[in-house]
Amino acid sequence: VKTKKISAKEVSQFFLDRAQRLDTKLNSFIGLNPDLLQQAEAVDQRIAKGEDVGPLAGVPYGIKDMFCTKGLRTTAGSKILENFVPPYDATVVAKIKAAGGLVLGKLNQDEFAMGSSNETSFFGSVKNPWNTDYVPGGSSGGSAAGQAARLCAASLGTDTGGSIRQPASFCGIVGVKPTYGRISRYGIIAYASSLDQAGPMVNSVADAALSLEVLCGKDARDMTTADREVPAFSKNINRSLKGLKIGLQKEAVQAGGLHPDVQKSVDQAVAFLKSEGAEIVEVSIPLTEMAVPVYYLVATSEASSNLARYDGVKYGYRADFPNLSAIDLEEFYSKTRGQGFGKEVKRRIVLGTFCLSAGYYDAYYNKACQVRRLLRDQYLAAFKNCDVILSPVSTSPAFKLGDRIFNPLTMYLNDIFTVSTNLAGLPGMSVPFGFSGEGLPIGIQLTAAHFEEQKMLNVGAALEGAAPDKKKVPHVY
Ligand code: GLN
Repeated sequence: VKTKKISAKEVSQFFLDRAQRLDTKLNSFIGLNPDLLQQAEAVDQRIAKGEDVGPLAGVPYGIKDMFCTKGLRTTAGSKILENFVPPYDATVVAKIKAAGGLVLGKLNQDEFAMGSSNETSFFGSVKNPWNTDYVPGGSSGGSAAGQAARLCAASLGTDTGGSIRQPASFCGIVGVKPTYGRISRYGIIAYASSLDQAGPMVNSVADAALSLEVLCGKDARDMTTADREVPAFSKNINRSLKGLKIGLQKEAVQAGGLHPDVQKSVDQAVAFLKSEGAEIVEVSIPLTEMAVPVYYLVATSEASSNLARYDGVKYGYRADFPNLSAIDLEEFYSKTRGQGFGKEVKRRIVLGTFCLSAGYYDAYYNKACQVRRLLRDQYLAAFKNCDVILSPVSTSPAFKLGDRIFNPLTMYLNDIFTVSTNLAGLPGMSVPFGFSGEGLPIGIQLTAAHFEEQKMLNVGAALEGAAPDKKKVPHVY
């Protein structure tokens, strides 16, 4: 776009046409930006005037519907926000625009980012473009499916317990969750504030690195953002593995229970890294076995508090009360929230409220926080012996729609390898590496020490180059 080989408007038109033509099969978008082409033209006009538009000049992003977009409906996949139009942009959305990028549309997701299969959205399930009988993963399922089918040039997701990495793995794209504090959460609808992070879901490690350069950085509007310089991730990518120590996480690869095709991808990835001169060392995070219960106590506790704001008073859905003065506040809240939230969200509000209640707080919430701290310490110890930890993203490739949604426990266990990263605040990513026998993509997870995204991106770039069948494209494409 910058060199005027193609205009921003043509690029936007290309992706818009694809989204309109192909998304009937996937349901990855909740809404498209009606002003996209006009905004793309504005980029072209600035380029014509010789202005430096920024590193993302004319790049149409699909944005998960957790991010507030000024003047553009933002639902978090929930009926309770079905008609919510934010008066401001999330910091990351503002940053994309300031770098010349465009908002193509808003992507479907599990309701309030609670889920691993994108089957809890008020706007319907999303389908996996590699095989539409299968889930795309969740909660950023719309971002993963839309990106894999190339309905947008890049996309944004959020990751509280794996929601960038797991759907990226299920759909065969690159997904990065940076260190907690790298990216501002201002304007992102809150699920579990101490775990939530935004990140890119894109076609390549290079695209992820470039996106991160724009997205990261201290924000005066989010006190938890880190005052750290943002490295030139994309320029610094180095695929050489000589002298690098890759930690193979014992619990993740020896516990058994891994789908044989996932095991095969892990084995092939390790063999490749070894052949390129990396040293493979075994590392252990024994508290991995506690990660799922700890995560579901912390996340639901924070969610029960964060979601208290949807009370039908200031914004969002309000139940229909023909005679408002005849009802009491309790009835007003319970009817509004009872109708506005879906089943999974209610389950978590109830569980979180229970964990935080007097008498149970110490036994559940407090205990979970203590184990969380110990888990973090185990990671810090492991990173004394290695640069990057390699593990599967998920125990299996994508599963079938409807297979797990009626059994929350099976669904939660699916997150075993991703939630620890969030509990410890570490950066993690998923890189596509091979396919299952059924032709579904499989991702490899890389985790680095706090603020060491570059090391992880470097190993990711090396793996990406060696990925089996990397020219394959999805069925819906
Ligand atoms: N599957 C996990 C959950 O349901 C993670 C979701 C996420 O990262 N937003 O909470």
